[in-house]
Amino acid sequence: MTQDFINQRKADLLKKKRDIEEQLKGFAEKKSSNNWETKYPQMEESLEESSDEVEEYENLLGVERALEEDLKSVNSSLNKMENNAYGKCEHCGREIEEERLVALPEAKACNSCR
Ligand SMILES: [Zn+2]
Repeated sequence: MTQDFINQRKADLLKKKRDIEEQLKGFAEKKSSNNWETKYPQMEESLEESSDEVEEYENLLGVERALEEDLKSVNSSLNKMENNAYGKCEHCGREIEEERLVALPEAKACNSCR
C-alpha cells in the first residue's frame, strides 16, 4: 500500500464523515464525535398528529443509530491512519485488499475474513 493510496482513502473517509455528519445535523444534536442525539419533535395539539410524530421520531432513532455506526467506523479508520495501522485486517492481521479498501475505505477485515 503506497502513501498515495492511503491519502486517497483518507480523502474518501473525510468526505464520508462530512456526509454522515451533514445527514445527522438535519435531525440530531452532536454530543461527542461518535455520539449524536435525535431531537425530539415538537408535539402537536391533536393526538393523531402526535402519534405520527412519535413514529417519525422512532424512525429517526433507527437512522441515527445506523449513521452513528458508520461514523464510528470512519473515525476509527482515520485514527488508524494516524497510527500507521490503516488497512490491516482485524482478524488475521494481513493487509486488506486494495480493491476492497477502494470500495469500502473503512473496511476492518480482508476478503477472506469478512
Ligand atoms: Zn483477514
